[in-house]
Amino acid sequence: MDIVIRHGTVVTAGDISQTDVGIEGGVVTHIGRGLGPSAREIDASGKYLFPGGVDVHTHVDFELLGNRSVDDFYSGTAAAACGGVTTIVDYALPAPGQSIQGSIEAWQQKAKDKTIIDYGLHPVILEPTQKIIDEMAEAVADGHSSFKLFMIGMARFDELAAHYMKVIAQAGRVGALTNIHAEDQCLISYLAEQFAAAGKFGVRHFADSRPRLSEGLAVQRAIAMARYAEAPIYLVHLSCEEALAPVREARAHGQIVYGETRPIYLHLSRERFEEPDGERYLGWPPLREASQMQVMWDGLRCDNLQTVATDHCGWSLTQKKSGKKVEDLLPGMSNLETMLPMLYSEGVSKGRLSLNRFVEVISTNPAKLFGLYPQKGTIAVGSDADIVIFDPKKAVTIRHRDMHSRSDYELYEGFDVTGWPTMTLSRGEVIVENGKVLGSSGRGKLIRRKRFSPM
Ligand code: MN
Repeated sequence: MDIVIRHGTVVTAGDISQTDVGIEGGVVTHIGRGLGPSAREIDASGKYLFPGGVDVHTHVDFELLGNRSVDDFYSGTAAAACGGVTTIVDYALPAPGQSIQGSIEAWQQKAKDKTIIDYGLHPVILEPTQKIIDEMAEAVADGHSSFKLFMIGMARFDELAAHYMKVIAQAGRVGALTNIHAEDQCLISYLAEQFAAAGKFGVRHFADSRPRLSEGLAVQRAIAMARYAEAPIYLVHLSCEEALAPVREARAHGQIVYGETRPIYLHLSRERFEEPDGERYLGWPPLREASQMQVMWDGLRCDNLQTVATDHCGWSLTQKKSGKKVEDLLPGMSNLETMLPMLYSEGVSKGRLSLNRFVEVISTNPAKLFGLYPQKGTIAVGSDADIVIFDPKKAVTIRHRDMHSRSDYELYEGFDVTGWPTMTLSRGEVIVENGKVLGSSGRGKLIRRKRFSPM
């Protein structure tokens, strides 16, 4: 064997066991106690072995509202690897008039020489024409088995809803899962105009400009559209009860609907917008009242939410502070490096999530939903040796200076967490050891994903 990791506690979605893990040719080949000798021996006494995190919602190298994000596929995936994330699925946005294939190729160009971890791509559809709908089957055959729709102005959703419904139906027919950003643009546009007329500018008014009901309304509409299109949907970054309630109800009726939440809605609340530089916390949808954080934790525990994903997009604080009107404020933040340790510390250590559920929501479920399982998402014989060695006792105060994203601020500056990755392996190669990045740029591969099947 190339590597044996000994004496660790292996945690999967279904199991916890003290056992050795043997790796050969980049895959797990042996699991059991007292495995034979190997070229490299790694002692994991007192540590957990988790399957590497699978973050299915990232914008690593991205342009929005005239700004280019500060990370590229090197810094973004180095941050991911340091935080125990070994696979991302990034959103490939088309240029105006571009084909699905064209947007995939453009994103591969950005990623291929830089990424240090494996990645997949979700094609985004911003122009739901018949030509694009006709291209969807080929995209899925090429291994891109999910599409993204935005129910907001940048996608002209309200104007083109009937066409977008055909996209959802076609995705179902060709074996893809449709990811949906659910916020109601009618309410958002109306409120933005009212706020501007009343002189309510800036981040302090942001949460009220995109209210919980705008999210709830859009989730209800998306679920109804998917029901009549007879297709599965995956609702990204849900933040509040108004969004979760229709998901819970649809799932109870057997509809194939999944929900994702995002770390910020578990760890932060809207009071943050009152801080100096409150723009640093700004995302679409906004942070909500503190009461909603518990709603999100309950949703995760009870399987009304299936995944946690970051929506990572690294900006500088200057970029974040450049918008004036509420609708011009730049959403998104760097989050890949802290997702696992924050969720472990706030979730597992505080008794909100079991160890198995933690692994399920950060690795196994996203891998299953997006056609990556069992290559990714578990530690099993035959799976890629994407493994995080995690020290549950390591106390860390989160500081921007220790982070690997090129963003110039840290969302959780000064937060104390217990538990941090000490080593990250990707396909059997140690790519991070004690915070030092060892993986070379461009070593990561584009993963061609399988067709969607319900879980
Ligand atoms: Mn996003």
